Amino acid sequence: MNDFIRPQPGIMDIELYQGGQAHVAGISDAVKLSSNENPFGPSDKAKEAFSRAVHKMHRYPNTDHASLRQAIGEVHGLDPDRILCGVGSDEIIHFLCQAYVGARDEVVFTEHGFLMYRISTMAAGGKPVAVPERERVTDVDAILRACNKKTKLVFIANPNNPTGTMIGLAELERLAAGLPKQAILVIDSAYSEYVEGYDGGAELATRLPNVVMTRTFSKIYGLGGLRIGWGYGPRAIIDVLNRIRGPFNLSTAQLDTAEAAVRDQDWVNRCRDDNTRLRAWLAEALAEKGVPSDTSTANFILARFASEEEAAGCDAYLKTEGIIVRRVAGYNLPNCLRITVGDEPSCRRVAHLIGLFKAGRTA
Ligand SMILES: *Cc1c(COP(=O)(O)O)cnc(C)c1O
Repeated sequence: MNDFIRPQPGIMDIELYQGGQAHVAGISDAVKLSSNENPFGPSDKAKEAFSRAVHKMHRYPNTDHASLRQAIGEVHGLDPDRILCGVGSDEIIHFLCQAYVGARDEVVFTEHGFLMYRISTMAAGGKPVAVPERERVTDVDAILRACNKKTKLVFIANPNNPTGTMIGLAELERLAAGLPKQAILVIDSAYSEYVEGYDGGAELATRLPNVVMTRTFSKIYGLGGLRIGWGYGPRAIIDVLNRIRGPFNLSTAQLDTAEAAVRDQDWVNRCRDDNTRLRAWLAEALAEKGVPSDTSTANFILARFASEEEAAGCDAYLKTEGIIVRRVAGYNLPNCLRITVGDEPSCRRVAHLIGLFKAGRTA
């Protein structure tokens, strides 16, 4: 290394992403409730498609993702020509920043917004602008006040991670309508399938010229390890993003598995129903033990403790008992723990242990 070899401005200011912890030293069968994964995994049809893909590994994948886009379009009632598939929705977020954000351009998101918005903004040389929420709920007026002629993108996760709260379609539409002309509203719908009857912003992205929706196979579809996501929006924007997409960004295994997964909506509906039931049970059990949370619309609960010390202490205690949850101090929520809704035994166990901890009976 010499002084002349330097990355682009802003890159060295990016803090490395810390994923949800996956292991506890000395415990082989820890229960992982730290990454909002589907405890039941993907549908059997998705697993079968993945197994079949093993016979095609020597062939390059197709580059236009036509078959997967067709399936997504049929299931969601969307025009396949306005869909773009990527390596997780992370890659769609990255494409948006790369294509629309330059040096000193601004990208707006909420204070407890997903960390990838900041990372991708800075990777493109842009300036991240974090806007306060109102009691952990997206504040459309605060976002509109933060926008100016340098604003290129506004990211809203709805439902939001890590708060679990969401705003309605009317609020989203008001936000889109109020943005400066050069700005795109990106509705990150990673958790939208958990909300019965909610289209994730698809109709807005169909009708409005400045709205893009992103979706993922990592959450309710149970395919986080395979890395598949998609975006949908105005034809002109999708055309821009396709120009910077690598032609072989998705493998045959990813494409075939995702297609089988999206066509199995029975599995999605079952997972949503289970999540709704267990989430309500867990939130109430924790509240009874003195740990409140906002009403969650996603597959996790943001549990609020009395202090940062108490949250850290509970996190450490759960680890000794083989349960991994997510500290969210990096999201400016130091007194909270984000707990993924697991299967029923995991929900019961985490509630029981937090009860013991709150009662001071952990020795
Ligand atoms: C998990 C998550 C995603 C999904 O990212 P992938 O790259 O598709 O795995 C996107 N946005 C938010 C807010 C998330 O929590």
